[in-house]
Order: sequence, then C-alpha cells, then structure tokens
Amino acid sequence: MHQMTLAEIARGLADKKFSSEELTKVLLARITQLDPQLNSFISLTEELALEQAKAADARRANGESGALLGAPIAHKDLFCTQGIRTSCGSKMLDNFKAPYDATVVAKLAAAGAVTLGKTNMDEFAMGSANESSWYGAVKNPWNLEHVPGGSSGGSAAAVAARLLPAATATDTGGSIRQPAAFTNLTGVKPTYGRVSRWGMIAYASSLDQGGPLARTAEDCAILLQGMAGFDQNDSTSIDEPVPDYSASLNTSLQGLRIGVPKEYFSAGLDPRIAELIQNSIQELQKLGAVIKEISLPNMQHAIPAYYVIAPAEASSNLSRFDGVRFGHRCENPENLIDLYKRSRGEGFGPEVQRRIMVGAYALSAGYYDAYYLKAQKIRRLVKNDFMAAFNEVDIILGPTTPNPAWKLGAKNSDPVAAYLEDVYTITANLAGLPGLSMPAGFVDGLPVGVQLLAPYFQEGRLLNVAHQYQLNTDWHTRTPTGF
Ligand code: GLN
Repeated sequence: MHQMTLAEIARGLADKKFSSEELTKVLLARITQLDPQLNSFISLTEELALEQAKAADARRANGESGALLGAPIAHKDLFCTQGIRTSCGSKMLDNFKAPYDATVVAKLAAAGAVTLGKTNMDEFAMGSANESSWYGAVKNPWNLEHVPGGSSGGSAAAVAARLLPAATATDTGGSIRQPAAFTNLTGVKPTYGRVSRWGMIAYASSLDQGGPLARTAEDCAILLQGMAGFDQNDSTSIDEPVPDYSASLNTSLQGLRIGVPKEYFSAGLDPRIAELIQNSIQELQKLGAVIKEISLPNMQHAIPAYYVIAPAEASSNLSRFDGVRFGHRCENPENLIDLYKRSRGEGFGPEVQRRIMVGAYALSAGYYDAYYLKAQKIRRLVKNDFMAAFNEVDIILGPTTPNPAWKLGAKNSDPVAAYLEDVYTITANLAGLPGLSMPAGFVDGLPVGVQLLAPYFQEGRLLNVAHQYQLNTDWHTRTPTGF
C-alpha cells in the first residue's frame, strides 16, 4: 500500500479498494517503525490524521470526489498548523503551537488531505543538508550516511522512503529542488506569488515559495493544484487563475525549444552528472524537443548576491523572535538586554546566528550601498538574463546540483562550501521563476536530478515536460533498499 502514488491512491479510494482510514493507519505504523532511522518527522499528528481520514471517507460516501480527498500528506514544519507545534526546526519555537492554519494547510485540509505530521527541516530553512535542525540531522534513505539535502530534507526523506506519497515544502534558494534531486523525487518551486506565504514562517520573504515534493510529476500536479491560488492575506500573492495542471500533462513536446546554458557545464559540475544531464537531453530530443545552447552570463554573481539578500531579509524577519513577543525565553533575565541576548543566543543555532549577523551587517549604514544595494542590482541582471533567454526558448534545462548528496558532516566546518552547492537553484529564486527537479539517474548509488526552469506561471509546462520524460524513463520509480 505504501508504494502507491497520490494518483494511484486517488483511483483506489474512488474505486473503494481501501478507505483513507485504512491507508492512514498503514502509513502511521510505517512511520513509527522506520522513521527512527531517518529522523524525517518532528511531530506526528496521529489523532488529527485519523479524524481527517474518517471525515474524508464520509465525504466520499456522500458522493464527493477529488484527487486529494483522503490523500495522506505531511507539512514541512514551518507551515503553521493550528494547535500543533510549528517549530521551524528551531529550539526558538520548540514550544510554539500556532494559533491558526497557514493558507496552504487550510486549503489542503479543505480539499480533504490527511495530515500525518510535520517534517524535519534545517533551522529556519537555512541550509542545504538538513543538518542545522535543532531536532537533529535527517538521513538520506538512499544511503543513511549521506544527507538528504535541505532545507526540506524531512519532507524529501519521508517521501523517498515511502513513508507517505507526498509532502509540502518550501524553496528560498533551492530547498525543494535540491532535496528532490538528492532523494530521487520530483519537486516544484512555483513562480513567486503563486502559492500563498501566509502562515509560512518567513526566512527571506522576497524569495520564499511553497511547493510540492512527490515521486512523480503527476503527483506534483495534484498537490500543487491544492496549494496554488490567490490569497488576500498575502500581499505578494498574485491574482492569476490557476490552470488545471493535470489536464496539460499529456501535451506533446514536439517542437518544444529547450535552452541549455553553456555556463552550466563549467568547472565544478561532477562529470558523471554532466553525462546524465546529456542523457536526459537526448531523451527529450527523442520526444520532439529541439535543443539550443543559450547563455546566462550573470549566473556567476548569483551566489554572492543571494547570500547577501537572503541573510539581510532573514535578519529582519527573525528580529521578532526576542523572547517577548515570540520564541524561547531564557531563565531569570537580569534586565531587558540580558533577556534579548540570552533568549536569542540560546534559541538560535549557529547557522541562524551567522546569517543574522551577515544580514545585519549588510544592511547597516555605510555598508548598505556596498553590499545590499549591489546585490539587488545583480538580482536584476540575473532576471534580465532569463528574460532574454526566454525570448529564444520555452524551457531551460540543466543539473539541479553540481554534486550528489554529500556525507553527513562533510561540509560542517566550511559553510561557504555548502553555499556553493546552490549554484543552479538560487537564480530561479532571485528572478522569481518557477523550477522543477526530477530524477535523472544515479552516481555511486546516489540520485541525481535534472532541473527545468520556465517563464512566470508556466508550472504547467514544467509538469508536462517532466511527466512526458517520466512516461519514457524509470528513474523516478526506483526505491531505496530497506524502504
Ligand atoms: N541552501 C539555501 C540557503 O541555505 C537555500 C535554502 C532554502 O531554499 N530554504 O539559504
């Protein structure tokens, strides 16, 4: 039962092969049995899950239908869930029970999805390895000595290990696509403004975007359908109709123009990954796509720009966790300054403290023009590169990451080494564009992802290309041994 995709579950529920309650019980037992190896969940919500499953079964019995009605999912632990701990992977929020549901959570619940729990993540979504969580590192089901990627590593590991079919995640600089690549999943980072950020604890507000992690493009289409849409509570949400993502999955790729940036294949890319990317290009050519070399000349500046902008926004967003309004409070403070200092010093881990310091520095008088303003100018150049490229091509294709998942602890002593691994993903966040990662093969038994980028609001196109690729390849069907 645990091998089923969301699409298969929807068919099984519609055909009354099993109930949502039965399926939910099987998966909850599986999580209890196997998750100690992975640490992919921070909280399990068994009671809520069974209640939601029974309600979904009752709705189906009353003639209702829908791809998410009775479908088990989990939420990354930065989506606020009413009355349930929403920790953001931090000691700072270990005792925080959100007073309301995030829009994404409310929309999926209304569609009948069943919440099994809240998944582990890098603290405040800062990281690429899921090692900065206060609740401990998450392990990669493909090799328990390796990281699952981050910051949505809990969602990725849980779905890859077949603990559940799909989960929500967020992507500020790659946190959906990179863990998807590291665990053999499909993940979509939507256009900025497509999915509401209301009730999603902020890391860098101009970059953050929620999206689905699942095994197939078909399932991502189903989950994204439930997440996307205008929300008046989010001032950056865009009032644009949501297309039927499942309906366009089977559009032909004949004549599709795919751009491959020459900068993607320079030093730093593992040659074995480069070869797998070439294979995926050939596969898409067989399906009728036309390949064109393009250039993204400002790509080399994207990492330094991102690692100024994201910490700058984080330093501002995280100022609310002061032990007074929100967050952990230290014992017996001597005075107000002592309260702030110790509460924040105890509540935030080292990576979060590093980012707050970098961000506050970049925003301070005298440095603002040199760092923050310059980074914003680079951001515009990165966006202009994409706009020029999309005049010539429909989709941009390349690797999701330069290397496969590294060993736990391998990059702990050098944060910059981890930052450099984000080279292919962060440009989409800087430009606000949608991106998708899908399985493209293995290197040393570890999964490799291929990334597709599209013009604004063309998530449907990304899902269509990925679905056609998945109809003709079987990488996405491989299961990690032991799970
Ligand atoms: N690795 C990037 C960072 O640490 C991206 C994280 C994310 O997308 N949330 O900022």
